[in-house]
Amino acid sequence: MTWVLWADCTQAEAEAADLPGVTLGAHEKDDGGWRLEAYLEERPAEWILDAIRVFARSSPMPPQLRHLPDRDWVKYSAGTMTPVRAGRYHVYTEAHAHTLRPGRIGLRIEAGRAFGTGHHATTAGCLEAIDRAARRGQRVSRVLDLGTGTGVLALAAAKRWRRASTVGSDIDPMAIEVARGNLRQNAAREGRGRGMVELHVAAGLRHPRLRGRYDLVVANILARPLRAMAPDIARAVTPGGRLVLAGLLERQARRVWAAYRVRGLVTARYPRRTAWPCLEFSRPGRRR
Ligand code: SAH
Repeated sequence: MTWVLWADCTQAEAEAADLPGVTLGAHEKDDGGWRLEAYLEERPAEWILDAIRVFARSSPMPPQLRHLPDRDWVKYSAGTMTPVRAGRYHVYTEAHAHTLRPGRIGLRIEAGRAFGTGHHATTAGCLEAIDRAARRGQRVSRVLDLGTGTGVLALAAAKRWRRASTVGSDIDPMAIEVARGNLRQNAAREGRGRGMVELHVAAGLRHPRLRGRYDLVVANILARPLRAMAPDIARAVTPGGRLVLAGLLERQARRVWAAYRVRGLVTARYPRRTAWPCLEFSRPGRRR
């Protein structure tokens, strides 16, 4: 995600803005005005420019576009960290706690050493996918967030399916440490069982506590490990369950998709013309 399209506006305009499939952020500026930002992977299409212009209708200036070199992205997000909205989720840092509004599900995540602040298209895409599953009324009692990073997706699921037991895993012990802090910060209970989130350091599903099947599996990793782990990950999805994969580029999507299709999963969503598509599958059959 390397483009930021922004426009100054009023607080009401910033808060009303909502664009399916586009990650928006809004924050109060030092002068008391507000700024609406759209984070984009490519130069914005005309309809996105139009939408931002309409949202920020009080702005005297047309929306402005800024390019961020990839290497500056982490620094940028760590420095400004405007809140991100995806579905009903509102991902924010302490400095922006006042931007949380009723009806939104808050996830407080500070920029730090682990991946997953919500600003990357893959994280936002997974949050939207989780949101859609919840809105559709998907019944979920066990969740797996493979490659949890900051724990943002595990938290997002745990806040939505309050009685589910959620597992977050990461190959990187540092990520698990960060995720543990984020559970505390978001008043989520760490532990085994219903209504709790358990965290484990593990490479893929090779861990005794990761055995079994899940109604919702999210894995935002990278194309190559997703393909390598397809047998394990596909097996972990229970009949009637949902799988969300991200971290792959558009040109890698087909091969990742095929690796899961041959393992009995059916396509629920395959977005086109997006740099970081988020693939959604379901496992046929009745939930047991
Ligand atoms: N879920 C977060 C973080 C995604 S970044 C989000 O959506 O924003 C991907 C994470 O996967 C990293 O923290 C990385 O350490 C972890 N990871 C990479 N390979 C892995 C593997 N084989 N098994 C488990 N975790 C892995």
